[in-house]
Amino acid sequence: MANTEETDRGEAAGGAGGGSETPLSLVRYPDEVLRSERVSVAEIEYPGGVEALARDMLETMYASKGVGLAGPQVGINARIAVIDPSPERDQAMVLIDPEIVERSGTIVEEEGCLSVPGVNGHVKRSARVVVEYTDLSGERRRVEAEGLPARIFQHEIDHLDGKLFIDRLGMAKKLTIRKQLARLEEAAERRKAEE
Ligand SMILES: [Zn+2]
Repeated sequence: MANTEETDRGEAAGGAGGGSETPLSLVRYPDEVLRSERVSVAEIEYPGGVEALARDMLETMYASKGVGLAGPQVGINARIAVIDPSPERDQAMVLIDPEIVERSGTIVEEEGCLSVPGVNGHVKRSARVVVEYTDLSGERRRVEAEGLPARIFQHEIDHLDGKLFIDRLGMAKKLTIRKQLARLEEAAERRKAEE
């Protein structure tokens, strides 16, 4: 999930390229990998294994000024995500096979996504969630979250289910972002043509 303030600034300043060097390249809407079914992390092959993948994902997330990043966003079609909701950027979490096991309340707040640059919108989410996940040592853990962390968990787990935050926007908002989405679709077409 993008830090919405940073995304706004980044877009205003930069435009398409982004520029910052990251270990993994960000996949953007409308790339198919963002929509496909996820496999278990055990089935993926990554040089250096899952630990190296998690490290590269974290580095990519921090360099992109994101607060969360899911495997499919870097072309890894597996149920893994990294998050760091802290302003100090020192609360990294690696989530393998995360699952929401409890949720309560609803709250509507603004979200953005590193894979849908330039688009922000208000999304209705559960106010509190309990998430179970496996950490890098292979231990199954359980964490309760509210506020921003709860929102990031839901946003990233959506990615693992092939869902984007733009799918959850209201009808009126969906109409207003059509132009931005069309621009991202055109950019993808251009990249394809250049290959
Ligand atoms: Zn996202």
